[in-house]
Amino acid sequence: MCLIQVLSITIYIGGSLVNGAALNGVANSNEIIGVPGKGKLLNVKSYPPIENYQSGLYEVYQEPYYLGINQQAAVAVLVSEEDEGVKGEVVFVQKHPPVGPVFIRGNITGLTPGKHGLHIHQAGDLREGCEKLGGHFNPYLIHHGGPRSSVRHIGDLGNVDAKEDGVGEIVAIDPLMSLSGGPRGIVGRALVVSENEDDLGQAGNANSLVDGNAGKPVACGIIAYIR
Ligand SMILES: [Zn+2]
Repeated sequence: MCLIQVLSITIYIGGSLVNGAALNGVANSNEIIGVPGKGKLLNVKSYPPIENYQSGLYEVYQEPYYLGINQQAAVAVLVSEEDEGVKGEVVFVQKHPPVGPVFIRGNITGLTPGKHGLHIHQAGDLREGCEKLGGHFNPYLIHHGGPRSSVRHIGDLGNVDAKEDGVGEIVAIDPLMSLSGGPRGIVGRALVVSENEDDLGQAGNANSLVDGNAGKPVACGIIAYIR
């Protein structure tokens, strides 16, 4: 048995935190700062403000007191929409949920050679195939980016690069997503591979900041817990 005590609050504040002396310096970074308090550190994760769009954004949480939490693992089995022959499996592992990185490993076959956008979408409802899954999973309502961007959707995994044989290998470590629910939880949502390369928000047009111009989905699957 384990007892999980996690407090996770997302706070939108214009400018800096009021009387937030301990938090000075985190406003323009994308890092996690531990603030001493009673017992465990209070962690403050920040996202930089976006000019003329929104203020800085802070997520405050406390790690569980009891770390006897089992490793969590989930898998997405990707299937193509209309006999396009694209399929694959991608496994997600988090050693200390709900915090710590998620290790991602998998491969996708049947792709056209080159880069294809890989994203987690909001919903995991496949009743209408890969088409009605909402946008990229974006609990903080910020714009699209790449997996290493300071501003990105939680669902932004960048690209899978398919070789000449149509096989794309995925090996990544993600610092943001979680496998144990909460605001950054990805289980129950859908993993989607797209027809085009994700420009990682760098193309300079409006759609680049929405979905990286990755085009329509070629295969998708629900991210589900492994027993
Ligand atoms: Zn995105």
